[in-house]
Amino acid sequence: MELLDTFQRPLRDLRISVTDRCNFRCTYCMPKEVFGPGYQFLQRDEILTYEEISRLARIFVAHGVEKIRITGGEPLVRRDLPLLIEQLAQTPGLKDLTLTTNGSLLRQQAGALRVAGLTRITVSLDSLDDAVFQQMNDVGVPVAQVLDGIDAAKEAGLAPIKVNAVIERGVNDHTMVDLARFFKGSGVILRFIEFMDVGNTNGWRMDRVVTLREMAGIIGRELPIEPAEPNYRGEVARRWRYLDGSGEIGFISSISQPFCGDCTRARISPEGELFTCLFAARGHDFRTLIRGGKSDAEIAEFLGQVWRVRDDRYSELRTEATAGIERVEMSRIGG
Ligand code: SAM
Repeated sequence: MELLDTFQRPLRDLRISVTDRCNFRCTYCMPKEVFGPGYQFLQRDEILTYEEISRLARIFVAHGVEKIRITGGEPLVRRDLPLLIEQLAQTPGLKDLTLTTNGSLLRQQAGALRVAGLTRITVSLDSLDDAVFQQMNDVGVPVAQVLDGIDAAKEAGLAPIKVNAVIERGVNDHTMVDLARFFKGSGVILRFIEFMDVGNTNGWRMDRVVTLREMAGIIGRELPIEPAEPNYRGEVARRWRYLDGSGEIGFISSISQPFCGDCTRARISPEGELFTCLFAARGHDFRTLIRGGKSDAEIAEFLGQVWRVRDDRYSELRTEATAGIERVEMSRIGG
């Protein structure tokens, strides 16, 4: 059954955050000053079990979802993640199952994830310069560890592999071309993300954003590129291709070229709240329904009520002033 919101947008993509914990403290996402030793993370019994997640996934897929992305926090810090992948891979009607990770634990887990039914993966890597990368992840993880994780994903047969790099002016913008050069022609699809005003803790300012236009200029001057057609309506990354035919590169431009009009995404937090926008302050509580003995039909009914009145289009309304409005942290609901 297809659900449409107030702007006639269907529900197609579901991002499920399996933990609010992460082994990185990226300055733009989970700054140490906020997410330090005293920070109160969710307790074990507060987060959805794998059975609860799989049940929700089945209900969502029956109502239009075609693609599920597992995220976090860092999904690979949650114990026995392949067990969840195995359950989700069996969801009737699901067309695409993927996962976003910082890659630091991928060497140990890539094989098991592939066997469990994962077919492709996205790895976040913001720079190839060790000093810059370690300043950004703020826990001293070297670039080599993530590159080794990417190799492990390749060896396990996960494909395509995508790499996401958040670009923040004055922090890592001077290392963009090196990243592009490194992955050009390798089959790995690199995407640059505009620094976003997600959450309330990352000190976002418009002047730290390097826009798609600027980023495409920086890359294009060294490695000529041209815009390419989207693969499908609602695709998050704008695709560009190298003129020499050596592959493609993408830009995720939520700030300078918002794509709310095509947004078919919903996000479930680790404790089972559904967010209909990355920039929403509040979610809709599905855990109480699941743990309160509601039937699949009753849960689907609630999903329909939430989606039909959805009118979010935050990125189209964003101004410097809206950056201060309360909203959920990216580290809780993932990208
Ligand atoms: N830990 C996993 C990872 O590193 O990919 C999954 C969760 S992480 C929140 C998902 C993605 O969001 C990462 O690529 C991260 O760089 C990106 N991200 C976090 N904060 C961001 C921000 N303020 N602007 C743009 N992207 C951001």
